Amino acid sequence: MNQPLRFLLRALAALLAFVFFFLPAQAAEAPLKVVASFSILADMVKVVGGDAVSVSMLVGPDGDAHVFEPRPADARRVASADLVVMNGLDFEGWMTRLIRSAGYRGKVVIASQGVKPRLMAEGHDHSHGHDHAQGHGADEAHGEADPHAWQDLANGIIYIENLRAALVAARPAHAVAINARAAAYTARLRETDAFVRETLARVPEAQRRVITSHDAFGYFGAAYGLELLSPQGRSTGSEASAADVARLIRQMKAREVRAVFVENISNPRMIERIAREGGGVIGGRLYSDALSAGPEADSYLKMFRHNATELARAMLAR
Ligand SMILES: [Zn+2]
Repeated sequence: MNQPLRFLLRALAALLAFVFFFLPAQAAEAPLKVVASFSILADMVKVVGGDAVSVSMLVGPDGDAHVFEPRPADARRVASADLVVMNGLDFEGWMTRLIRSAGYRGKVVIASQGVKPRLMAEGHDHSHGHDHAQGHGADEAHGEADPHAWQDLANGIIYIENLRAALVAARPAHAVAINARAAAYTARLRETDAFVRETLARVPEAQRRVITSHDAFGYFGAAYGLELLSPQGRSTGSEASAADVARLIRQMKAREVRAVFVENISNPRMIERIAREGGGVIGGRLYSDALSAGPEADSYLKMFRHNATELARAMLAR
């Protein structure tokens, strides 16, 4: 065999080795492309997935997922995802249509799966803002689940377990690291839960009442012993009526509720008016349905620490 031919064969062998060994190994190691519907889930996926995932989100920090309108770029992102993560409980009603229009056929993780949902109380007179395009009549609204399940850290632990299982299934080679990160994260959720309880325990029971702009803290109130009133229902998609606002101001005066909070995702004007007319004081900003763009609540756990600290400060200041 002459020199040039031998060289050519060696080069070919090297190329084949590259194609058969190196490329598949690279492909297996490429981070799993995860698209999360909103910022709180994106944070959870990043913590549990670590370097095994690359995460993007559809509704970013300070964004309102109740009234989000996906654009073509969002459909393209979903189409190229390896895994899609959403809250469920009808929080992001637009996700089902988006997934369909994107032609995405991969796995969809419902992070709230297994959570015991809080149902809308009987006789609740708020109109319900969820996605009328899906044909929900007003009658069906009663008995529907409150979607804000992440606002109880015990539910957060269920979310983490769902995400852990989905990530391990998608990237079994990273199972040990993913499981370790999920375990460490769960321990931090428990610590944060203890912090929230200790912080709110400083407030006498009769003072544990606050007003928030929309009904996002039902799970939080039930878990941590707080009564939360709001002029708006469980979605920001419907405006509070004049009757809702008047009723809230009457309740506020009768029950001496002074602590009033604005939310990062809502226009503060209505809540400022309620504070003024009901004799309350704006106690600060709570993070309900999105993390902060700034540093104060830019992770799921910081959101809880921030909210608990602000709530306790406002309730004690009355
Ligand atoms: Zn909400």
